[in-house]
Amino acid sequence: MLVLKFGGTSVGSPEAITKLVSIVKDGEHSGKTAVVVVSALSGITDTLIAAAKAAEKGSFDPAVFDEARRRHAAISAAFLQGDEQKAAEADISRSFAELIRMLDGIAILRELSPRTLDSVMSYGERLSAPLIVRVLCASGLNAEYLDSREVIVTNETYGAAHVAAAETYRNIKEKIKISPAQTMYVASGFVGRTKNGDTSTLGRGGSDLSAAIYGAALDAECVEIWTDVDGILTADPKLVRNAFRIDSISYEE
Ligand code: ASP
Ligand code: MG
Repeated sequence: MLVLKFGGTSVGSPEAITKLVSIVKDGEHSGKTAVVVVSALSGITDTLIAAAKAAEKGSFDPAVFDEARRRHAAISAAFLQGDEQKAAEADISRSFAELIRMLDGIAILRELSPRTLDSVMSYGERLSAPLIVRVLCASGLNAEYLDSREVIVTNETYGAAHVAAAETYRNIKEKIKISPAQTMYVASGFVGRTKNGDTSTLGRGGSDLSAAIYGAALDAECVEIWTDVDGILTADPKLVRNAFRIDSISYEE
C-alpha cells in the first residue's frame, strides 16, 4: 500500500495535474495507492495569508481572490464536462463565498487570531483536494475526498499544531479499510482539527507531514513525496541560491 503526496506546484496547473493523473495511473501506483495527499495550488496559501492580514488592518477587497478563483476554474474546465464541471464550479464558488464572509468579519473586527488564520489558510487544501477527486474520477479512477479534519486530531497550537498520534492513527485506520484497488482517498494536506472541533494547520509546508501521518497510520510500504524539484538539494533553493542536488543520501542523514 502506498501513500502519494503532491505539492503545490504539482497541482498548480492543468499541465501539472495531467502529470499527477498519469503518475497515479501508472504501473507503479495503480491498484496500490490508498491515499493521495494534496497541497493547495501553488501560491494560494500565501494569497490567503495576505488577504487575512490585510483584513486585520481593515482593508479587504474580494478581488484579491480573482486569480485564485480563475486558476481553480481553469482546472475544472480543463478536465471536467457538463454537470461535473458545473458541480465543481459550484464547490469553488461556495468556498470563496465562505472565505469572503470570513474575511469581511475579520475586517469589521480588525482582529485575526491564530485560530481564525488557520481557518482561512485551510481553504487552499479544502479547494484543491475535492477538485483533484473530480479530476481523478473523470479519468476513470475510483477516488473519494477525505477532509483530513475528519481524522487528524491536533492540539491548539494554531499555525503549527501538534498531532495527537494515537487518536489520529486510530481514526485513519477506521476510515481507510477499503482495499486500494477499489477506492483511493484524496486527502487534504496541512489541515487537522482540535479536540474542540476547530480547524488547525500543521505549519507551512505541512502536507509532507500529513502524508507521513497517513503512511505511518496505515503502515504503508512507502510514502512518495512528488514535487517539481528533482531529488534532495543541499538547502532550500528559495533561500540559498547555489544549493545543488545531492547524488545520494543515507536514511540517517
Ligand atoms: N499549502 C500549505 C503551505 O503552503 C501546505 C503545503 O503546501 O504543504 O504551506
Ligand atoms: Mg512543500
